[in-house]
Amino acid sequence: MPKPLDPATRKQLAARVNYYRELGIHDFYRRPVEEGAELTLQAADHNPAASEPAVETALPMIEDKPAALQAIRDDIGDCTRCRLHKGRTNIVFGVGNVNAELMFVGEGPGADEDAKGEPFVGRAGQLLNNMISAMGLKREDVYIANVVKCRPPGNRNPERDECDTCSPFLMRQIAVIRPKVIVALGAVAAKNLLAMNDSMANLRGRWYDFRGSKLAVTYHPAYLLRDPRQKKETWKDLQRVMKYLGLKAPAKKSQE
Ligand code: SF4
Repeated sequence: MPKPLDPATRKQLAARVNYYRELGIHDFYRRPVEEGAELTLQAADHNPAASEPAVETALPMIEDKPAALQAIRDDIGDCTRCRLHKGRTNIVFGVGNVNAELMFVGEGPGADEDAKGEPFVGRAGQLLNNMISAMGLKREDVYIANVVKCRPPGNRNPERDECDTCSPFLMRQIAVIRPKVIVALGAVAAKNLLAMNDSMANLRGRWYDFRGSKLAVTYHPAYLLRDPRQKKETWKDLQRVMKYLGLKAPAKKSQE
């Protein structure tokens, strides 16, 4: 019998297994272990933002993206993995162009999204559509998803354990879409994706390397509805994204 794993190694191993599950790798095979052998893991950085090279080399190019996304949706099934399933009407998976260069990620569905099963369809969704138009794109050009796929009750922020349970599905969506740029909408999405606990003031205005994509942070459209003064700052964030993607704002169109 090999020696039992110490708690730290057990935790590392669980994180490693979870990491591979995020990529859609579910089958693991154990090598034979000699009697009394000490089991150790090589150190690994599980900060999602820092794991870009591993993902780049580990992931095969996915040719049939619709089928790959459908497989993720099938894995979600009629999910009861976290408590958010209790209040939902529809699972809000994600929508948009599977070959999108630009992906928006919010925190979770609201009432309109829950009713329709599609992300960003309420007032905040309309504002996001306006932001996308101001960038010279259409909603159909981008991909839109959330960290959690079921509506938190009363539109509260999703809690840490709910995000941890649901976000592997988002990571798999990102791995399939492989956008050039991900825009995290709001602090909850940014903190979960980047595994950083910082203020919006510090999170914004920088590029992050994230699993082969560039990631930028800006305000959530729902926040902009409450505080329209921040639209100007948001437009600055989006202009940086446009510059990176080589996009031009359409002529004679005002940005919201
Ligand atoms: S939020 Fe995600 S993990 Fe939780 S029940 Fe919904 S689909 Fe499942």
